[in-house]
Amino acid sequence: MAVPFRRTSKTRKRKRRTHFKLSVPGMVKCPQCGEMKLSHRVCKECGYYKGNEIVND
Ligand SMILES: [Zn+2]
Repeated sequence: MAVPFRRTSKTRKRKRRTHFKLSVPGMVKCPQCGEMKLSHRVCKECGYYKGNEIVND
Protein backbone atom coordinates (compact mmCIF):
# COMPACT_ATOMS: atom_id res chain seq x y z
CA MET A 1 0.00 0.00 0.00
CA ALA A 2 1.29 3.45 -0.87
CA VAL A 3 2.27 5.57 2.10
CA PRO A 4 2.78 9.37 2.05
CA PHE A 5 6.48 10.12 1.66
CA ARG A 6 6.27 13.44 3.48
CA ARG A 7 4.10 14.74 6.22
CA THR A 8 1.62 17.34 4.88
CA SER A 9 2.63 20.71 6.31
CA LYS A 10 0.18 22.94 8.15
CA THR A 11 0.34 25.43 5.29
CA ARG A 12 -0.28 22.82 2.66
CA LYS A 13 -3.18 21.36 4.61
CA ARG A 14 -4.69 24.82 5.14
CA LYS A 15 -4.26 25.75 1.49
CA ARG A 16 -6.05 22.58 0.44
CA ARG A 17 -8.88 23.40 2.81
CA THR A 18 -9.46 26.83 1.29
CA HIS A 19 -11.59 24.98 -1.24
CA PHE A 20 -13.87 23.58 1.48
CA LYS A 21 -16.70 25.96 2.01
CA LEU A 22 -19.66 26.05 4.26
CA SER A 23 -22.55 26.13 1.89
CA VAL A 24 -26.10 24.95 2.06
CA PRO A 25 -26.87 23.54 -1.38
CA GLY A 26 -29.89 24.75 -3.29
CA MET A 27 -30.49 27.83 -1.17
CA VAL A 28 -31.76 30.92 -2.97
CA LYS A 29 -33.09 34.25 -1.82
CA CYS A 30 -36.87 34.45 -1.80
CA PRO A 31 -38.02 37.17 -4.24
CA GLN A 32 -41.02 37.83 -2.02
CA CYS A 33 -39.48 38.34 1.42
CA GLY A 34 -35.72 38.10 0.79
CA GLU A 35 -35.20 35.19 3.16
CA MET A 36 -33.00 32.29 2.18
CA LYS A 37 -35.11 29.37 1.05
CA LEU A 38 -34.66 26.06 -0.73
CA SER A 39 -35.01 26.48 -4.48
CA HIS A 40 -38.05 24.88 -6.12
CA ARG A 41 -39.79 24.87 -2.75
CA VAL A 42 -42.45 27.09 -1.22
CA CYS A 43 -40.82 29.72 0.97
CA LYS A 44 -41.32 28.82 4.61
CA GLU A 45 -41.17 32.45 5.70
CA CYS A 46 -43.87 33.95 3.52
CA GLY A 47 -45.49 30.89 1.93
CA TYR A 48 -45.00 32.17 -1.61
CA TYR A 49 -43.85 30.21 -4.63
CA LYS A 50 -43.55 31.71 -8.14
CA GLY A 51 -45.35 34.86 -7.02
CA ASN A 52 -48.43 33.12 -5.72
CA GLU A 53 -49.30 32.64 -2.11
CA ILE A 54 -49.51 28.90 -1.52
CA VAL A 55 -49.47 28.65 2.26
CA ASN A 56 -51.12 31.17 4.52
CA ASP A 57 -51.13 31.07 8.29
ZN1 LIG B 1 -40.40 34.31 1.24
